[in-house]
Formats: sequence, structure tokens, C-alpha cells
Amino acid sequence: MNYDISTMPKIDLHCHLDGSLSRTFLMDTLHLNTLDAQKIQAPKDCQSLAEYLTCFDLPVSALQEKEHIRDAIVDVVRQAAEENVRYMEIRFAPALSTNSHLDLENVVQAAIYGCQKAFDRYGVFTNLILCAMRHHSPEQNHLVVRCAREFLGNGVCALDLAGDEAGHPNEEFEALFAEAKRLEVPFTIHSGECGSAKNVALALQYGARRIGHGIAAIKDPALMQACRDAHIGFELCPTSNFQTKAVTAASSYPLRAFLDFGLLATINTDNRTVSHTTLTDEYAFALEQLAIKKEDLRTLYKNSVEISFADDSVKHQLLYLLP
Ligand SMILES: [Zn+2]
Repeated sequence: MNYDISTMPKIDLHCHLDGSLSRTFLMDTLHLNTLDAQKIQAPKDCQSLAEYLTCFDLPVSALQEKEHIRDAIVDVVRQAAEENVRYMEIRFAPALSTNSHLDLENVVQAAIYGCQKAFDRYGVFTNLILCAMRHHSPEQNHLVVRCAREFLGNGVCALDLAGDEAGHPNEEFEALFAEAKRLEVPFTIHSGECGSAKNVALALQYGARRIGHGIAAIKDPALMQACRDAHIGFELCPTSNFQTKAVTAASSYPLRAFLDFGLLATINTDNRTVSHTTLTDEYAFALEQLAIKKEDLRTLYKNSVEISFADDSVKHQLLYLLP
């Protein structure tokens, strides 16, 4: 494997559309002459996930027209292509873009068109994960599950649940994921980002195939074992995890421990703009501070392929990129 981390093939499975829009895209779309970085980047002394989430208001306002949604996807894939990301799963909450003239289907179709356009331009295969939101009503979220079902295999690969995990824990969403399971929509759930191992356990119980972050699982060896036995994927996003205070010291970051335990852990960006990062930066950080060695890069890549929601033909192509 080519160990130059900026040029080696990479996979990003946890990347939010709104949190990854480039400054140029936001300024062009919102007709701004200048853009205060504080509005779109987590503050250096960010104290919590709730504070981190305040950076998304302005980017969401740039996702209210079909063309903007389409171009937003192209904008994020372009950034990923520049660092040789070969496959990505971009997630977003379509309900945040519905308005007087766009319904959920219009929004998702525009995003799928963006994925096709981005593939034609950059050759990066991209699937969409639709996010239900923790602060939305059950009715709103059930519509998102049904929308994911409608487009599953045709641009959409899975469902997610995002937002304030501490304010709305997973126990509020049992019915939502029962519905997803019934409709055979695969899902990942942001869990264990705010210290709750219970949320990870519930995600596993509901049938999640992957856990967004899952940091708190480190507190519970029995839970880790259950996740290993069930081949659950872990989508870690180091920079973001420090910003939201999911962890506070590099020595307690669980990536090394997860890999040693045999969990299918991966490295991802979360929010390229809000966290001011790239996947190359995340790998560099892991190598420098999180006890990851160059020999682990192959394992991390293979884990990403294995837990991705891509179909088998795409997975084979991605594995083929490994020398
Ligand atoms: Zn996330």
C-alpha cells in the first residue's frame, strides 16, 4: 500500500453534507462577500456536542434549492477527490431542506443527481445516508425512513439518526428503527458520542449495522464483545470527537483499543468545514497522537470496505485498490 497518506486510496463513511460545504460554495450560494469563520467552524474551546451543532444553521440555509443541493454534493466530493478518497457515504437530513417548493423526494433526487454529476467529474463513487433528526417529530422521521426505502439501492444506501444525543437519547427512537428494520433499510446510529454506553447498546439491540462514533463503548467490555460478535462497524471521527468532548485526552481515545480488540473501527471526517479537517488530517493525527502505526492503515482501509453500505461489486473494486 502506498503509505503517503495524502495520496493513498481512502474511504470516508461518515461525512455530513452541511458540515462539509466549502467556504467558497457557501459564499457563492448565499451571495456573501465575506464569511465569518466563527459561524461555520467549531470554536477552539467548544464545550459540547450541543455547542458544536450550532455551526450548522448557516450551511443548512444554503441547501434550500434543488440546484444548491446538487452542487453541494459535487462541492464535497471535489474536496474528497483531491485527497484520493475513492468511495464516500455522504449523509444529510433531507427534512431540513423541505420548504414551500421542495418535498423529501425532490430533495433526495437532487442529491442523487449531485452524486451522479460528481462521479462523472471526479470518478468518486458516492452513496447517500439519510438522517432522521433527534429533535424532529416521529411523523417527520418516519417519512425519512420511507424515503430511504424508496431510493434504497438507487443512490441511497442507509438511514442514520443525528442531532443532540444527550437531549434525545436512543430510547426515544425504538419505533423508528423497528420500522427501518421492517422495511429492510440498513442503518447506522450516532451513539456513544456523549458518554452513553447505553445508547450504543440500544443501537445494537435495534439492529444497527454501524455505530456513529461509539466512543463510550470503551466503558463496557461486554458491549464491545457483543459488537465484535455482531460485526458492528465503528465510524470514528477523531477531530470532531475531541471538539464535542466525547474524549478529552489522546491517551483515552479508543481507536487503538478498538482495533486491538478486533472491532471494525474506521477513521472518517464527520464535518470537513465545521471541524476544519480532511481525511488526510485525520490519518496524520491518528499516526502522530493516537498510537496508530503505518501497518494499521491497511486494516483501517479493509474495515471501511467491509462495513460500507456499498454493494458487493463496489466493495470488490475498492479492495482491488489495495496492492
Ligand atoms: Zn456525525
